[in-house]
Order: sequence, then C-alpha cells, then structure tokens
Amino acid sequence: MTEQNSSGTYRYETHMHTSEGSACGKSSGAEMAEAYAQAGYAGIIITDHFFNGNCAVSSKLPWRERVEQFCIGYENAAAAGRELGLSVFLGWEYNYCSTEFLTCGLGKEFLLAHEDLLEWDVITYLNTVRAAGGFVSQAHPFRQRDYIQYGRLFYNYVDAVEVYNTADQDAWNDLAWRYAKANDLAMTAGSDSHHVAWPSLAGLGFPRRLDRIEDFVAAMKRREGTVLRDLPNPLVNAPAPAPAVNPS
Ligand SMILES: [Zn+2]
Ligand SMILES: [Zn+2]
Repeated sequence: MTEQNSSGTYRYETHMHTSEGSACGKSSGAEMAEAYAQAGYAGIIITDHFFNGNCAVSSKLPWRERVEQFCIGYENAAAAGRELGLSVFLGWEYNYCSTEFLTCGLGKEFLLAHEDLLEWDVITYLNTVRAAGGFVSQAHPFRQRDYIQYGRLFYNYVDAVEVYNTADQDAWNDLAWRYAKANDLAMTAGSDSHHVAWPSLAGLGFPRRLDRIEDFVAAMKRREGTVLRDLPNPLVNAPAPAPAVNPS
C-alpha cells in the first residue's frame, strides 16, 4: 500500500455520510464539515446512501423533491465549508443488492435529469454515470456483514476500488488493495464516517489543493492520490486501536 503521508499533502475524504441524507447518519452536514476542518482535511466528498440504499429521504416524494432533499446534507456541509475553507463536493453511494458504488463528479442536475435512474440495471448505471463524466469507486468490495449476502466484483465497470475503509477489517482491506493492484484500478480510501466522533479517519492525500470535483476526478485518473489511514479524529478523546500494517 502507498505509504501514509499525513504531512505535506492535502487531505480529502471520499466516503462519509450526513444525517440529512442517510438514515444511519447521526451528525448533520454542517457538523461533519466542522469536524473534518478540525481534523485538517482540505476537502470532503459527501456520499450519502442513495435512494436504493439506506437513504433518509422518503421514496414517496416526486423525483425533483426527492433529489432536492437528498442534496440537503451536502448543501449544509458546503455552506459550512465556505466559512471554514473546506471544499465540499457532492457524491452518493449507489446500492445494488448491498454491493455499493461511491459515485462523484456529477452534479444535482444529473440526478434531476434522470428520473428513470432507479429503473436502470447496475451495468447501465455504471456505464451512464461514467460516460457522463462521473467517477466510480466500488466501496469496501470484500466486506462481510449480515446484510451482504455475497460479494460481487465489477472490475470492468468502475474507475477505482476502495482499498481502505475504517469500518472494515484489515484482512478485507488488504484483499481490496491486492484486487485493485491486480486489475490496475485506481485506489480510494475513506472513513465511511456516520458521525463526528468516528474513531479513526482515512482519505486520500494530494500534492495540491483540488478546488473542484473535476480536479479530483482528473487527479484520480492520473493516479495522484495517496492512501491515508489511521488518521486521528481530534473530536475523539480515546486513541484509536493500534493500526495493523497492510502488505505492500
Ligand atoms: Zn450507513
Ligand atoms: Zn458508506
């Protein structure tokens, strides 16, 4: 795994949730933005659970209203981020039978324009978002949990693989890293945080500031991101468990 380098790089979160967008989120977008600014991040990508996942937004709403509500966590985080000097980008975590895809690089307009999005099969989804300029990383591909019946791999249909997720066991993260390497896929790392006191943080480090999500996507395509893991969360008093060393 790429060496952790928490100094001299700009930190970006690639996987996090808000209480406005995710049913399992416990802190608001504004609270999360504040926490990440305190933790020294330059930017965050809000990846709330999409409509086909553990989303906080009612499925009974008309599409436009549904999309507007889905983006509120991001918008609240972005407003706080403007005050804090923290870049905040819109993303979402698309769910297909518990196989999940972190999607970014597309705006609210993309969602508004595709009212039939939930009727697409997963391959159509991946092909369409990527053709539109979206960037997709398969989240925690080797995670094992009660809610995951079995794993699925989409190496021909994604841009990247999440090789480090703080909520996963080291063995599953190690498998993800080997899998990304073997298939020459870009690597993302994220906290998958659901509240401000998330015990340990992760993300990607870049040699310069990425002011727009397009900059993030371009930098990812150039493989400029460095995996950052076991970053301390200043809002948590207790030290995080001792990190295990991933193979390199
Ligand atoms: Zn969740
Ligand atoms: Zn997540």
